[in-house]
Amino acid sequence: MIVEMRKRAPQAEIDDVVLKAKSLGFSVQLNLGTDKTVIAILGGNTGQISPDSFAVLPGVENVTRIMKPYKLASREFKARNTVVKVGDISIGGNKLVIMAGPCAVESQKQLEEAAKIVKAAGAVILRGGAFKPRSSPFSFQGLEQTGLEYLQEVKRKFGLPVVTEVVDPHQVALVARYADILQVGARNMQNFSLLTELGKIKHPVILKRGLASTVTEWLTAADYLLAGGNNNVILCERGIRTFEDSTRFSMDISSIPVIKRFSHLPVIVDPSHAAGHYSLVPAIARAAVAAGADGLLIEVHPNPKEALVDGLQSLTPSDFKRLMGEIKSIAGVLGREV
Ligand code: PEP
Ligand code: MN
Repeated sequence: MIVEMRKRAPQAEIDDVVLKAKSLGFSVQLNLGTDKTVIAILGGNTGQISPDSFAVLPGVENVTRIMKPYKLASREFKARNTVVKVGDISIGGNKLVIMAGPCAVESQKQLEEAAKIVKAAGAVILRGGAFKPRSSPFSFQGLEQTGLEYLQEVKRKFGLPVVTEVVDPHQVALVARYADILQVGARNMQNFSLLTELGKIKHPVILKRGLASTVTEWLTAADYLLAGGNNNVILCERGIRTFEDSTRFSMDISSIPVIKRFSHLPVIVDPSHAAGHYSLVPAIARAAVAAGADGLLIEVHPNPKEALVDGLQSLTPSDFKRLMGEIKSIAGVLGREV
């Protein structure tokens, strides 16, 4: 249930609503707007109490039930777009944020080359997996902590914040020591113990869409992070499983406007894992920007032929550079910058 307070309602009236909700056994989350506070009343059986029991309280303007399973990620709870800050970079603002780099950190040299290439082309965040959950146990699983150390070193050298995946709830603190953004992979979108741990920190989290998850399930997973108190949530569409097998996954372009309609959270797109092939990545990336994505997460490798992971879908330095130029033009038409 969402309780909207009147503009500039005094603190005592807000406190009364919170107190009442807590006395009924519910938990609350506050969205402190510039002049209006919105209170989400959360709990399994909010359906059993009448909205009027809150509507009668002084200072309450409006009480609505959120019929969707997700609450804190919804526009009902927060009407204004969330902007996630990573240093002086804003994700979800007018400027598109391009994150690029190799699928996996393979060596310090490889990562440095990648950082140099993507930075020169205009990317502002470096990606690179240190923990690589692979479909097969026989595939390269990543350099793990050594990979995190390379990320930190390259970040220092190039001044690029880094994003890397965390797969284990027990490793959240470790990864958070090295990374600026922690990524939840598609296969872990509903790993609720991982999400609960990530809710306890303040680092921005990229929550990838599960490969067979609906937008509703995705936003409900985001609620785990928000409920824990981590408001720095960035959604990432990376394609879903459909009957179509000419791409690795089917890019759900429509999820971008759907997210924008129903949620305040920023949404970026990973065209690489959807495409599965480098030749398809630029078109999907351009479409994502045209559809309103707040940024892109793209695999770029200094030499894709030698990549240990996902070389087939990684862009070469020159392809990435060309794509960045195209993205700038499309963003310009929409009144956005890169
Ligand atoms: C990745 O970004 O490296 C990755 C493994 O992506 P996904 O979780 O979307 O498959
Ligand atoms: Mn990959």
